[in-house]
Amino acid sequence: MGTLFRQIPKFYKLLLVTVCTLAVILFSSVYLRSGQQAIAQSDPAAAQTNQTLPAGTEPSPLNSGAYHFKVGTFKAATISDGILMFPSANVVPVTPPAEVEQALANDFLDPENFVGYTNILYLDTGSHKALIDTGAGKGFIPTLGRLSTNLAAAGISPDEIDSVLITHAHIDHVGGLLNEDDSLMFPNAQYYISQTEWDFWTDPNVSLPLFRMGDAEKQQTIAAAQKFLGAIGDRVSFFDAGSEVIPGITAVDVAGHTPGQSAYLIRSEAAELMVTADVFFSDPLNLEHPDWEVVFDSDPAKAVATRQQVLRQLTDSRQQVLAYHMPFPGLGHVSAAGDHYEWKSEPWQFEP
Ligand SMILES: [Zn+2]
Repeated sequence: MGTLFRQIPKFYKLLLVTVCTLAVILFSSVYLRSGQQAIAQSDPAAAQTNQTLPAGTEPSPLNSGAYHFKVGTFKAATISDGILMFPSANVVPVTPPAEVEQALANDFLDPENFVGYTNILYLDTGSHKALIDTGAGKGFIPTLGRLSTNLAAAGISPDEIDSVLITHAHIDHVGGLLNEDDSLMFPNAQYYISQTEWDFWTDPNVSLPLFRMGDAEKQQTIAAAQKFLGAIGDRVSFFDAGSEVIPGITAVDVAGHTPGQSAYLIRSEAAELMVTADVFFSDPLNLEHPDWEVVFDSDPAKAVATRQQVLRQLTDSRQQVLAYHMPFPGLGHVSAAGDHYEWKSEPWQFEP
């Protein structure tokens, strides 16, 4: 059963690589002339990514991009925004590439091509219909921007969403706040973000001195955050860590990846679900090696300390976890294994 589970994303990845290769040959000249390239270079994640699929050539996946489950009495679903693919050596740049490739190969993953998922939580609490994060939007890279399609397939209209909770302001989490015409994707929503995260990115003098990327990528990261946060400026509410944002959802400070990154603890009756954002995104890279510094972290050393603390807390509490970039649908538990940790994917449920 475990082997079968691993083969599903691998097959999907193989399909995408095949489509990418054909698409590059057919459309590279068009793509290079299009504005898409400029958008794709507006964020370091895009600059680092392996994928080159042109816009408008979305594959038609056979498997669902929505997975329904429950947290106590709350109806929940993971809604996918698509995938990111990176050269593995770019993801943990301080670690020797041979060690990175071996760690991935040990887990039967492509040693050269790291795949990150995008698991957005939809929650119907009875009093609110909420999303945690929004994906990247359609203008970033072609393998992302599937949120609206997958919401529709799950029978959820963007108009129904009354609350959007943001973990942090990287484009793969806030780019889906806007449609392609820059209108709000969730026109009836109130938006929530930590005061610290908002204050950091909207400071005109913001800088990223510890971010392991070049100056151009740093400026592009800041510009993207300011664009998408700016779009919700008159409809945003701020919170401090530890506060209940809407009934049943409490913010938890997990700074390091960004200065004000928030996890969210969902509670309904006796059930708990911890939504961990980008504290970790890979079993072989972050749980088996929680001390490996990650290229996407604003403060790599602080992010390592936060990761260690959160992984320990999840092990001790045995809480259910939804991890944004882990293999879809991102649900599982963390267990201790000597000096490191292991991800235990949750069994698929056909009936939520
Ligand atoms: Zn992310």
